[in-house]
Amino acid sequence: MPDIGFAKCGREHAMTAADAAPPGDPAAQRPPARDACAAAFDFIVIGSGPSGRRAAVQAAKLGKSVLVIEKGRRVGGVSVHTGTIPSKTLRETVLNLTGWRERGFYGRAYRVKKDIEARDLMARLHMTLDHEVDVLEHQFARNSVSSARGTASFLDPHHVAVTSETGETKVFAGEKFLIAVGTRPHRPANVPFDGRSVLDSDEIVDIKRLPRSLTVIGAGVIGVEYATIFSALDVSVSLVEARPGILEFVDHELVEDFLHQLRDRGVTLRFGAKVERIEVEHDWPITILEGGRRVRSEMLLYCAGRDGGTDLLNIAACGLTADARGRLKVDPRTFQTEVAHIYASGDVVGFPSLASTSLEQGRIAACHAFGIPLPPAPEFFPYGIYSVPEISTVGMSEEEVRRRAIPYECGIARFRETSRGHIMGLGAGMMKMIFALETRRLLGVHIVGEGATELVHIGQAVLNLGGTLDYFIENTFNYPTLAEAYKIAALDAWNRMFRV
Ligand SMILES: Cc1cc2nc3c(=O)[nH]c(=O)nc-3n(C[C@H](O)[C@H](O)[C@H](O)COP(=O)(O)OP(=O)(O)OC[C@H]3O[C@@H](n4cnc5c(N)ncnc54)[C@H](O)[C@@H]3O)c2cc1C
Repeated sequence: MPDIGFAKCGREHAMTAADAAPPGDPAAQRPPARDACAAAFDFIVIGSGPSGRRAAVQAAKLGKSVLVIEKGRRVGGVSVHTGTIPSKTLRETVLNLTGWRERGFYGRAYRVKKDIEARDLMARLHMTLDHEVDVLEHQFARNSVSSARGTASFLDPHHVAVTSETGETKVFAGEKFLIAVGTRPHRPANVPFDGRSVLDSDEIVDIKRLPRSLTVIGAGVIGVEYATIFSALDVSVSLVEARPGILEFVDHELVEDFLHQLRDRGVTLRFGAKVERIEVEHDWPITILEGGRRVRSEMLLYCAGRDGGTDLLNIAACGLTADARGRLKVDPRTFQTEVAHIYASGDVVGFPSLASTSLEQGRIAACHAFGIPLPPAPEFFPYGIYSVPEISTVGMSEEEVRRRAIPYECGIARFRETSRGHIMGLGAGMMKMIFALETRRLLGVHIVGEGATELVHIGQAVLNLGGTLDYFIENTFNYPTLAEAYKIAALDAWNRMFRV
């Protein structure tokens, strides 16, 4: 992989040791020697995850000089190296090697590869990541985006020091900034992380052996995804969550269906279970729950929460403060912080913390920074949960429709009712659509099962364009497809709404 060094940036000036101090050192807060750096870049982006990279390319396309600073070994951020892409690659590999999608026909014992090892999963992961990084680096090169490798920290509102792994520091000046430093796993001091049997979600993508049993603490999206991916590998999984239920933002009927599928294949669910402490006995983690119940497994994945990555930025020097979880406040329409020329986007600004939305936020921030008006973003964006089975949802859940007191009706389709479902051997999978009774407008689409994260976009388009029940009834879908579920669910809703 080509190193992203200072050398690529033509217009920076090296600082002397007297000018710069390491990030976190109070000396770093004193103003830099102005003649040691030039106002070299129109736009300085800190962090090369989805938000930073999209913003950088957008600004470059507007003819601006752009510098991206990244402290990781390679560009791409959490999304490429420890989050979205690794977990989705792992999932795809597991589904392929286990023959998961074929089990509807050939039974639960069916496997494409008999003894699946950690290295089988890692091989494909590394190939995918190399490809992703290559595409990104090419994108930066094509658009003349400069990059510097090192940890950025503000010296004042217009200057950042970048310190490389070897301790070399350089200063860059910028007219506008974007902070896109993302988040990292929350690692409480009382969890005995050891990188072997007690891991966080960054470490799980680099395991050297597959456990026979796994405890996952935290049933947020990340926890649910990993719990179900490992369960598809026939690892015995316990999912522990302090709250009484999971995925509160997803339509409850869908969550019920999902949990039924997990129980059916033997996943142990411990909800409303607060963790008192975690001990390790002979390398085996034991989770002791309030009330004394113990959950023992060969490996433990702790994924309860993430912290914003602002701690290394010395943000006080640029006039900003982060909240207790290291996150920054922005105007949600423009992603401008309280300091007008500094923007922040992606996970560091909190909800919804998705790669998909982070990309868009970066684009919006760059356009606003350089005076390009944008139409308001469409109202509805989808959530994709890449568990096994996958879940995707857009618009209002039934609970939300009720809260808002909108008269409504639902329609349900089971994938086994579609010809495509028969061909694929699908025994499970459902789509639920919600329509307003008075206007017939679509209010929400919720899908659990094969292809959910792709299928949802049909519903998203209709929702954002203000479409109604009639579109789905009158529309012709390819046959045989799972998308036919839209017509089946719409007809089901029509029957409930108008049948005499
Ligand atoms: C396990 C997992 C699975 C996920 N799956 C999905 C999914 O399926 N779909 C989806 O949409 N989202 C998913 N996400 C969320 C997604 O990864 C994030 O929303 C996205 O990566 C956020 O992008 P970002 O631009 O905010 O920055 P990040 O991707 O977090 O990158 C920030 C970068 O900033 C760098 N940085 C930090 N501080 C400094 C500094 N001081 N100087 C220089 N560089 C710095 C970091 O090294 C990092 O490379 C997942 C996340 C995880 C953890």
